[in-house]
Amino acid sequence: MPHFDLGALAYGADYNPEQWPREVWREDVRLMQEAGVNLVSLGIFSWAQLEPREGEFEFGWLDEIMDLLHEGGVRVNLATATASPPPWLSLAYPDSRPVTVDGVRLEVGARQLYCPSDPHYRALSVRLARAVAGRYGTHPALRLWHVNNEYGCHIDQCYCAQCAARFREWLRARYGSLDELNRAWGTAFWSQRYGDWAEVQPPRRAPSFPNPSQGLDWRRFSSDNILELHRAEVEVLRALTPDVPLTTNFLGFLPGLDYFRWAQEEDVAAVDVYPDPAGMAPHLEAGMVFDLTRSLRAGQRWLLMEQATSAVNWRERNAPKRPGLMRALSLQALARGADGIQFFQWRQSVAGAEKYHSAMVGHVPPERSRVWREARDLGQELKALDFLRGARVKADVAIMFDWHSWWALSQASQPAVTPLLPVVGAWYAALRSLGVNVDFVHPEADLSGYRAVALPQQYLLTPDAAQGLRAFVQGGGTLVMGPYSGVVDGDDHVVPGGYPGLLQDVLGAWVEEWAPLQTGEEREVRWADGRVTPVTEWTEVLHADSAEVLASYETDFIAGQPAVTRHAFGQGYAYYLSTRPDAAALTDLLRGAVQGAGVAIAELPDGLDVTLSDTGDGRLLHLIHFGPQAVTVQVPRAVDALSGQPRASVTLHPTDAALLRVPVDFSLRELTARAAASIPT
Ligand SMILES: [Zn+2]
Repeated sequence: MPHFDLGALAYGADYNPEQWPREVWREDVRLMQEAGVNLVSLGIFSWAQLEPREGEFEFGWLDEIMDLLHEGGVRVNLATATASPPPWLSLAYPDSRPVTVDGVRLEVGARQLYCPSDPHYRALSVRLARAVAGRYGTHPALRLWHVNNEYGCHIDQCYCAQCAARFREWLRARYGSLDELNRAWGTAFWSQRYGDWAEVQPPRRAPSFPNPSQGLDWRRFSSDNILELHRAEVEVLRALTPDVPLTTNFLGFLPGLDYFRWAQEEDVAAVDVYPDPAGMAPHLEAGMVFDLTRSLRAGQRWLLMEQATSAVNWRERNAPKRPGLMRALSLQALARGADGIQFFQWRQSVAGAEKYHSAMVGHVPPERSRVWREARDLGQELKALDFLRGARVKADVAIMFDWHSWWALSQASQPAVTPLLPVVGAWYAALRSLGVNVDFVHPEADLSGYRAVALPQQYLLTPDAAQGLRAFVQGGGTLVMGPYSGVVDGDDHVVPGGYPGLLQDVLGAWVEEWAPLQTGEEREVRWADGRVTPVTEWTEVLHADSAEVLASYETDFIAGQPAVTRHAFGQGYAYYLSTRPDAAALTDLLRGAVQGAGVAIAELPDGLDVTLSDTGDGRLLHLIHFGPQAVTVQVPRAVDALSGQPRASVTLHPTDAALLRVPVDFSLRELTARAAASIPT
């Protein structure tokens, strides 16, 4: 597979010159040079310009732009332009328009209006990809193919008759027989037994709770079906331009697509990340996605393909990124393994649905724009950071993440509605507050590279994944498992005999019954050292067989019974947490678990983001401060990575960053950090 290598950190944006007259194009290239832009993503929404009528192609304007960019030293991540079919396509082929769960066929006027199964959309998009690849495959500006755009962003499931037919094909391939499908879907329940394949439907709007196993398979099919559409374009590009790397932009924790599967099709993982600047912790929201993206391709460096210079346009209230935040988040992406920083978009539109989405060049002239100055300065700053491309982020700790478990958990009629991402986010924030690098790991991946693996809420666990965890703990690993985990198998069938069915011996404990709490309700647990802390949302009737009890419930009918346990199993330890403690208690538990596993930690003040990366002959310590109050960080053996001067003490104000070199045997234990105000003078 070809390797994406620009020879420098990539810097740039989506470039949509078709929205602007020609005289602006030259000015664009001049400003790109001023901002250090060396890569733009071009043509993403150009289908209607490239093929204004079916079969009639107009490439002249794109030829001109490609040449102009090349002359200006700007390389191109060229889109196949298939993301948004033009109105003529949607109207000539009405079946290409997707259908909602309620049977509504969607209309022309926005974007991504295609049914992934429609043969006309498939044929026409592949033909366009072939035409683009044929014309520009050897253009000197081309460095990367961008296939389609943000798959599944709006349409991740289509309920039309064509999709129903493909769903049945997918099910035949998965199950072989209707008997097997009836078993897997548990259709003995509610008189749902299927006697003919033609009776099997997508889970369209139904009178009551749809069959959850059917719903789970539908989500699997929908991800695979869109992936097959992606592969159709990929095949064309691989055949015509085998030496040009390709990618498509992921959307982080997007519900619809199993990115662990998808990422295997790409030459480099790319992602669009839009944390809410008004949120509690944009750096945690973004950092989680950065770490996921790196994890999707086993630590390979990746590309931040889109972020905003300031505000977006699609929340109810869209806060700008305050001065310094865009730079700090960009440096965080680089610390976590990004090989480039790109924005949506280069020049802010004056018309259309995204005209209030910030850009590198905004509505205000560059010389009057704070956002432009920050974008330009970052582009210049990146030129001195090229050495980061040689660094790798390694993690001793992983959070298990699995789209299939997420889909199963999202089905209706559970003991409680328990959204996954807030739970994962809380565990991620707790681990990051200890300074440790965190990977996200697929349940059936090789875990042997980790010292500790956390499962915040792994509802579905296949026998293979359970076996992997058992071997991991047996071999000396530390497992920390949260509540409502390991409940069902890959068919979304409960593993009976007490929860979690497949791991009770590893945990030395088992769950008899769940007791979800009402919104706002609180219970208490008492820890071994006598502390009493609140828990919310969820409790369980937990029995410790051979496990040690670390905390017990203090209140309600489960008072006196175990809440948190630890079990020595083989050479390792398995922790089980049957409830949701507050952030401090969760951090305490995870601190004990990872330290017990031999992972070095640091105690970090609020908002200080620490990443360690390896360069082969040493380590880089990336310090970026997102907190509200200045901090001072002491790192005895550090030198400044840019100047080479010793830098044992660093004071960071909000959004400040420092990049230090430390010896190869550096451990986080050597780092001390505290709020500057609390340091005695
Ligand atoms: Zn469809």
